[in-house]
Amino acid sequence: MNSHQFEVIVVGAGGAGLMAGLYASKTAKTAVISKLYPTRSHTGAAQGGISAAFGNSEEDRAEWHTYDTVKGSDYLGDQDAIEFMCNEAPQAVLELEHYGLPFDRTPEGRISQRPFGGHTNNVTGKPVRRACHAADRTGHMILQTLYQQCLKNNVNFYDEFQIIDLLMDGERAVGVIAIELATGELHTFHAKSVIIATGGHGRVWEITSNAYAYSGDGAAVVYRRGIPLEDMEFFQFHPTGIYKLGILITEAVRGEGGILLNGKGERFMTKYAPNVKDLASRDVVSRAIYLEIRDGNGVNGSNYVYLDVRPETVNKYAVIDGRTNPDGSPVNVTGEQILKKLPDIIDFNRVYLGVDPITQPMPIQPTAHYTMGGIPTNKFGEVLNENGTPYAGLYAAGEAACVSVHGANRLGTNSLLDLVVFGKYAGLRAAEYANQVDYAPLPADPTEYTRQQFNALRNGDGKENLTDISNAMKKMMFEDVGVFRTEEGMQRALDTLAELRERYKHVRVQDTGKVFNTDLLNAWELGNLLELAEVVTLSALNRKESRGGHAREDFPKRDDQNWLKHTLAWKRGEKIEIGYKPVVITKYQPKERVY
Ligand SMILES: Cc1cc2nc3c(=O)[nH]c(=O)nc-3n(C[C@H](O)[C@H](O)[C@H](O)COP(=O)(O)OP(=O)(O)OC[C@H]3O[C@@H](n4cnc5c(N)ncnc54)[C@H](O)[C@@H]3O)c2cc1C
Repeated sequence: MNSHQFEVIVVGAGGAGLMAGLYASKTAKTAVISKLYPTRSHTGAAQGGISAAFGNSEEDRAEWHTYDTVKGSDYLGDQDAIEFMCNEAPQAVLELEHYGLPFDRTPEGRISQRPFGGHTNNVTGKPVRRACHAADRTGHMILQTLYQQCLKNNVNFYDEFQIIDLLMDGERAVGVIAIELATGELHTFHAKSVIIATGGHGRVWEITSNAYAYSGDGAAVVYRRGIPLEDMEFFQFHPTGIYKLGILITEAVRGEGGILLNGKGERFMTKYAPNVKDLASRDVVSRAIYLEIRDGNGVNGSNYVYLDVRPETVNKYAVIDGRTNPDGSPVNVTGEQILKKLPDIIDFNRVYLGVDPITQPMPIQPTAHYTMGGIPTNKFGEVLNENGTPYAGLYAAGEAACVSVHGANRLGTNSLLDLVVFGKYAGLRAAEYANQVDYAPLPADPTEYTRQQFNALRNGDGKENLTDISNAMKKMMFEDVGVFRTEEGMQRALDTLAELRERYKHVRVQDTGKVFNTDLLNAWELGNLLELAEVVTLSALNRKESRGGHAREDFPKRDDQNWLKHTLAWKRGEKIEIGYKPVVITKYQPKERVY
């Protein structure tokens, strides 16, 4: 009863998993397994938009999108994959539209586009309208639309099943083990192809925009099976999280003309990015905010600054910046228009802070946001070993994967694009492979490793408390492996992580029941976070330069001579082995980034 067989198993029902499931199901018997009900996946929280160089209201080109993404990645992104993604973008977005996604419209009826950080007209250097959006609920719409398509295509869903292990036959993936949350029973899924689309691991950090479920399960599971993780030191801190809470305030607020102001009321981004100012790429803006706060320019000496989207502010700075509406008329927005474009953002502030962004500025600070690193793949979603050879039957897509199109820093709206483009190709490849091969045998005792992991958590001596360990990790990672990093801080973090991992061995799960045992699963997830935090920190400590999201105070410059390469990290017993592989460079030689 607890054994299942599907040609393609997709783990994860976010944008990447649903797109993969949809495409795989066209030619192969496919199931999607998800620990959350599909429409609760984090993709549903994505606000601002999905990029595609349609040029619906001003000139734009896929080539500019490609260059912006390469530059945004601080030249660490693989250029063949980036070009592929940007060329596929218009088709991918149109496909979503044809599935029924209700994009906002221009007066002529085209998909409406807004500016976003790092997306520019390559001739003028000015921000370009490239982000297609459905108000500030773009991800929600993508998720609903793709879920409907999957249901229509008879994809099999295992909702609230959490995978704990990947089954391998040598170098070939042959299935997964999942726990059914409602019953606590273990299930064996035998497959020809497995696609990992489990999202990121932002829950490593204290202040984060990420969902509670972002515990890096997929990356941790494959890592424990000897598969390397790529570029884990690169994690994005989004500049504008709600102060203390971390809840994301989309970059679309700045796309719509919002301005960052320090405690003295100064628009400080002119200092750090004279050309694109508030719409510089996220790593640049996060560092600027951090430095302002450190220089005592936070609001009331505190560690936050303001994001101001009040109509009078937007209109004033539009004049200063020479910004007009697409038809050339002067910008003269009203509170009502802002409310229509950013309804959820306005709501979050009113509900969580009692601040009304139409009449008050919003207090913000950088928040841990996006996992650039992950499971190494090529542009077809095939998971690669260090020689660039695919593991048979194993695929990854979405935030769990590292293609790498985001390199050292992701541009806003490029993740939703990544999901639909690479989710699709992973689904196609996985099905194609499944159609060519027979099932490989499962291990003799498939659930053995899963049982071992759970038994350890059930049988600890109970000296240690889960929440204490988790809080200690998050606080330390935010301070020592956050926006800025130093050798000393990261070494301290590694020592603390070793201690925390030791303490974790003494945790004892209190709930001995079977039904929705969140106690057990939270404990297991903390194990993933601790493991990944260590990989992040060691990868970061080894990289002696600053690039994109990895900013070292002791090595403040980018060093292409020595560090224009991807990090790989393997689990070797209790140790981590670090290696490197080259970056794919096609048209664009590394240059200094100027915004
Ligand atoms: C607040 C917020 C706003 C954002 N806004 C934008 C934006 O405007 N534009 C943009 O491009 N990007 C945005 N991003 C980034 C983007 O939304 C995410 O990177 C992307 O949605 C991740 O999609 P995914 O399919 O990889 O993962 P998710 O959507 O997170 O899905 C992960 C899936 O994996 C499942 N899963 C996880 N672990 C297990 C397990 N062990 N067993 C079974 N299932 C498992 C979950 O149930 C879930 O279904 C935003 C991110 C956040 C957090």
